Amino acid sequence: MKVVIHHSAREILAAFYGCLESDVDTYDLVVLPDEDGEHCFSRNAFYKSILRQRCWGYYEIHKDIHLWIAKNASKVKALMLIAHELSHSRKPMHYNTIAEEAKACDAERFVEEVYSIVRKVMK
Ligand SMILES: [Zn+2]
Repeated sequence: MKVVIHHSAREILAAFYGCLESDVDTYDLVVLPDEDGEHCFSRNAFYKSILRQRCWGYYEIHKDIHLWIAKNASKVKALMLIAHELSHSRKPMHYNTIAEEAKACDAERFVEEVYSIVRKVMK
């Protein structure tokens, strides 16, 4: 597994969709799972949402982790993103996408708690 670092939201979404960077914010639809279920967005709305959160990533099953982290992203959000995507590369791999997302979201919360404790201890 390798970690592919992308330099912009546009670049990572073009890799994710397999399209040109100019097509990442169209009105075509994208369906993405999270631990609460699957959600449908226009590509345009999704592009704007990842710009707001300043980081995003995805895991290509049995292949690479892709990350985009803006220079002004929150450190804890960046750590949570990395934990989330690394978790997808770890066993057990759930074939149910909702269960798989729940596993990755657990990893995020774990890292968030670790970061919170480190901040308190190292103040
Ligand atoms: Zn995920």
